[in-house]
Amino acid sequence: GKADKHCDLLVLGSGPGGYTAAFRAADLGLKVILVERYESIGGVCLNVGCIPSKALLHAGKVIDEAAAMADHGVDFGKPKIDRGKLREWKNQVIGKLTGGLAGLARKRKVEIVTGSGRFADDHHVVTEKDGKETVIHFDKAVIAVGSQPVELPFIPHDDPRVMDSTDALELEELPKKMLVVGGGIIGLEMANVYAALGVEIDVVELTDQLMPGADKDIVKPFHKHVAKRYGRIMTGTKASKFEAHKQGIKVTFEGEDVPGPTYYGRILVAVGRAPNGGRIDADKAGVNVDERGFIAVDRQMRTNVEHIFAIGDVVGQPMLAHKATHEGKVAAEVAAGQKSHFDARVIPSVAYTDPEVAWVGLTESEAKKDGIPYEVGSFPWAASGRALSLGRDEGITKLLFDPKTDRLLGGAAVGPNAGELIAEMALAIEMGADATDIGLTVHPHPTLSETVAFSAEAFEGTLTDLY
Ligand code: FAD
Repeated sequence: GKADKHCDLLVLGSGPGGYTAAFRAADLGLKVILVERYESIGGVCLNVGCIPSKALLHAGKVIDEAAAMADHGVDFGKPKIDRGKLREWKNQVIGKLTGGLAGLARKRKVEIVTGSGRFADDHHVVTEKDGKETVIHFDKAVIAVGSQPVELPFIPHDDPRVMDSTDALELEELPKKMLVVGGGIIGLEMANVYAALGVEIDVVELTDQLMPGADKDIVKPFHKHVAKRYGRIMTGTKASKFEAHKQGIKVTFEGEDVPGPTYYGRILVAVGRAPNGGRIDADKAGVNVDERGFIAVDRQMRTNVEHIFAIGDVVGQPMLAHKATHEGKVAAEVAAGQKSHFDARVIPSVAYTDPEVAWVGLTESEAKKDGIPYEVGSFPWAASGRALSLGRDEGITKLLFDPKTDRLLGGAAVGPNAGELIAEMALAIEMGADATDIGLTVHPHPTLSETVAFSAEAFEGTLTDLY
């Protein structure tokens, strides 16, 4: 049939991957159409992910820091929380960013088509909105449809007291007691927000540690810090039964040393995210999608179909915005005929909890599992003047070096603002920096960033103490 619209590049999904691909392609001279099912562009990250969660975490941080100062001579009293106003502020932050994106799209003449898109064949996508269909013909396409929260069959997800991260960001109600199912980054960030707002938090995690993926010694100070504030933190435990009752959701736990069935006013389920690859009729375009909904790509972000690319959460782990944007640039550049490919050595992970937990590149547990030789240089924040002046001393910075070349292989930090420190480690790994490069780089004093240089000096045996 005839198409309603034509473009050089169609981008399906407007998250960090999709809008970056669209903007870069437009800058390289392609006629671009960006298809998004929601009115607001920006995807999960801007609307219901990275940004709103960080706004609420900031509020939580202010509340907690103010409370901590009460012991040091500055007492603000009990905070008065206006949930409506807090939500409004969070929505304003989102609005500024998504509105800004729409402006950037207009400036670049990227056309935004609102509607849910599916492939009709390998050169057409059909979008649908309020029953009205639009057929778009494309020369090339980028699939950037992202992911959505995983639901578990034995949890009553249709009960309004059972929330996913999107629901939790709405701050609809502050229960007396809430269970967070899943001790990964997303669950623990939301736990942080609700705890700061006065909710009693229990956490249940199937594996034997919080934040699976990070090294245990890095997670430990975080675990200790939150254990003081939360109710129960149950690792190595399965929440196996959920029953909706009037007085709450009754949850049964399986594992060693677990409590009996417990009632919760709300449950937050954060057990991972599932890719949306299976919902776009990709087969009609000949694009392979695996049984979980992931789409395999090569280093140029091409799917098995030469002129169709895929990026972001839908191509696999780690499901992070900064991975999606870098992949989006590569896809756009390759689509525009450039010789580009994705070759990041490392992708940092950050939990914006209090304290923050961040890691990049090789971890010690991976090194041990794979038999990779390494040596550690680390620095306890209890010896950092800056950390102590923040009223905190639990942090650690840890660097992993190649024993033969002294090059940095991986790094991690836990403590306030650890997420900011990880960027320097990522740069050092990308640049092939060794311990001497890092240690001889003059870092500003007093900053937490010094702990990176001190860790390198500790590895080299040249560390003197500077408070
Ligand atoms: P998405 O952002 O998922 O966007 C996909 C878009 O495609 C969506 O807008 C969707 O509506 C649209 N779409 C899907 N199917 C169709 C269709 N058929 N037709 C039209 N449109 C469609 N990552 C970080 O790096 N840092 C963080 O701090 C962080 N915090 C997070 C906090 C939370 C609570 C959550 C849930 C996630 C967080 N993430 C964070 C992860 C991050 O949001 C994702 O990695 C990122 O959004 C992935 O980008 P994407 O472009 O692949 O897809």
